[in-house]
Amino acid sequence: MTKLLNIGAEVTLVVVSKTQDCDAILKVYQTGQRDFGENRVQELVEKQAKLPSDIKWHLIGHLQKNKIKYIAEFVHLIHSVDSIDLLESINKAATKVGRNIDVLFQLKIAREESKYGLSFEESDKLIQLYFKNNFPNIDLKGFMGMASFSPDVDQVQGEFRILKEYRDLCIERYGEEHFRILSMGMSNDYSIAIQEGATMIRVGSLIFRARS
Ligand SMILES: *Cc1c(COP(=O)(O)O)cnc(C)c1O
Repeated sequence: MTKLLNIGAEVTLVVVSKTQDCDAILKVYQTGQRDFGENRVQELVEKQAKLPSDIKWHLIGHLQKNKIKYIAEFVHLIHSVDSIDLLESINKAATKVGRNIDVLFQLKIAREESKYGLSFEESDKLIQLYFKNNFPNIDLKGFMGMASFSPDVDQVQGEFRILKEYRDLCIERYGEEHFRILSMGMSNDYSIAIQEGATMIRVGSLIFRARS
């Protein structure tokens, strides 16, 4: 449960703390919040070193292969896996530090051309590879998606719905274990995302704006 937003206990709130300083993050931490998300590795590493060790750090932005080693020991969940290359590199880094790393596959669902994210076809291929067990130190946990930045509720709703349907299909095919998390929804569209079945939302500006 979180006092920060009026959402049910079945939805995990990740507070996106990018660009916020440690004092601002600590104030949110003191409400009981433990899941925080950053989109840049360097910023994540700096904050992790300074802030309480029971914070669960989520990497939500694009990840470069050569930077995985900096977060491999502590990262709680990587939301942004969008290539085989990256999956292989995360597995290698996880093996090196002797732990398993939880990941989500990032799917491209927005109408606007975004640089990052897998198509559904690419995701199918990656899932098949994953189940061939080439990645013993990676635990796939589900999907992440970002809807179009648009005031058109039907558009946003439709994009979330497509991802939810894809996730349901994967559960049908492979079972629930690796597809429990559906990370979708940000400050401007989190309530739509929850309606459409999000199990995790990533909210930044709304929370820090309300508290400053
Ligand atoms: C910044 C960011 C968020 C949070 O956005 P807000 O609009 O500040 O809530 C969520 N997800 C990703 C991937 C982001 O980069």
